[in-house]
Amino acid sequence: MNDSQFDTLIVGSGLAGLSCAFELAEQGQRVHIIEAAPFAGGRTSNWSDAGMEVESGFHKFIGFYEALPNLLRRARIKPNSMLTWEKTFEIRLPDGETAGEFGIAPLKSPIKTITGAFTNNDIISPADKASLMPFVAEGLKLLSENPMELDAYSVAEFARKHGVKDEALRHVLGPLTSGVLFLPPEDYSALVFFGLFAPGVPKFYKMQIGGFNGGMTDVMITPLLAALEKRGCRISLNTPAEGLSLEDDRVTGVSLQEGGTLRAANVVIATEISAAKRLLQPPFGGEAWYQPLGELPTMPDVTIQLELSEPLLPQDRVTFGPGTCIGSFSEQSRTTFPHVPGRVSMILSPPDEFIDMPDDLVFERVCADADKLGLDLRAKAKDYRVIRRPDHFYSVRPGSEKFRPEQRTPVPGLALAGDYTRQPMFATMEGAVLSGRKAAEAVLGRELS
Ligand SMILES: Cc1cc2nc3c(=O)[nH]c(=O)nc-3n(C[C@H](O)[C@H](O)[C@H](O)COP(=O)(O)OP(=O)(O)OC[C@H]3O[C@@H](n4cnc5c(N)ncnc54)[C@H](O)[C@@H]3O)c2cc1C
Repeated sequence: MNDSQFDTLIVGSGLAGLSCAFELAEQGQRVHIIEAAPFAGGRTSNWSDAGMEVESGFHKFIGFYEALPNLLRRARIKPNSMLTWEKTFEIRLPDGETAGEFGIAPLKSPIKTITGAFTNNDIISPADKASLMPFVAEGLKLLSENPMELDAYSVAEFARKHGVKDEALRHVLGPLTSGVLFLPPEDYSALVFFGLFAPGVPKFYKMQIGGFNGGMTDVMITPLLAALEKRGCRISLNTPAEGLSLEDDRVTGVSLQEGGTLRAANVVIATEISAAKRLLQPPFGGEAWYQPLGELPTMPDVTIQLELSEPLLPQDRVTFGPGTCIGSFSEQSRTTFPHVPGRVSMILSPPDEFIDMPDDLVFERVCADADKLGLDLRAKAKDYRVIRRPDHFYSVRPGSEKFRPEQRTPVPGLALAGDYTRQPMFATMEGAVLSGRKAAEAVLGRELS
């Protein structure tokens, strides 16, 4: 018996939960989303931290994403009005002198894309570039033939097996692992590496990278919530779920930290992995279906975000700092945070080194490494925040893939969504949206067209 006015209760208002809610509402379901935080959006949110506007870290919208732009368009949000498309990215080496510009938008910036690939010889020599070819060809081949075998290798192991030269590993593959999902090539699954880039190969012409024109809650999540409310969804912030309610082996709702329970015919756990484990472990820890998820390891993420007296960089675009702790960084004062004269967001790598480090030491370490990249961060820094989360990501180290759970569970009334659940775009915004759609299919018991 379900006495609730809602068909489905979704726990978590990140992109996975919102995508699931949108699909179910489009199918006529009455949906209630509960969110622990005082704001919606999860890792794609912005908020004020003791007077400074922050986010989990800078996010880039990749031009070949499909599920996320599709969701936004159906919610009448135009991706182009929310984003500034970047035509190039930069790699800076820690000798203070060498920096190279690479084109990433073959249609919008064909000359830069072609010259970037064939020049920049101080960053990577022609022989080093050539050494990447067999690595890429073999990686894409194994991805299509046997992805689980690819997950046995780290990027560094796979690169060495296929003759990639050291400089190419450090200057090209290093930035593409540390700057994207935080870990160095030695710790980063070759499956995640090729799996994330493979969809871009047939859609090479669509390649470009979008930076957000404002905080992500403001420009993406709030309009998504408005579209959901228009479709009859209820969204309750500051409402953490504490546990699951079960009757006769069926999930019938959730208990709330503040007391009381909410009931619905279906519950979708759309939290980050660590919170999902906390909710699922007590009732299902002993069950076979839960074991792989229980074993799926997590990893931390750490960013430092700085307000500056003037811009650090001449353009708002992705910059990589191989050989330093700054995996990637982006000036944001012309796009995401234009209310301050200078604003930079930096993803720190490897995150385990920084997760417990006091903020002032993180700042010192980052300033020292920025110096090596030829950037006088210390002189310009006016304020900063270190944003750290110990376990919101599933670990992209080799061997994780086999533990990622499906969205459909064997428990009646229960489905899972979240970037850690199985879908082809790993821990990205696109992956989260795909997982939400699959969770909606699990709830409905059929595929969506
Ligand atoms: C620094 C950083 C940089 C990134 N860069 C990019 C990028 O450039 N491009 C890209 O595509 N992706 C990027 N990502 C990844 C992307 O943000 C995530 O993959 C995606 O947002 C995950 O969405 P989700 O809905 O699965 O989880 P989340 O966004 O984590 O949402 C989970 C929600 O559940 C809520 N919750 C948890 N427990 C409870 C509870 N008990 N009760 C109620 N609510 C609860 C949380 O508060 C949260 O709002 C980046 C992430 C980080 C941290």
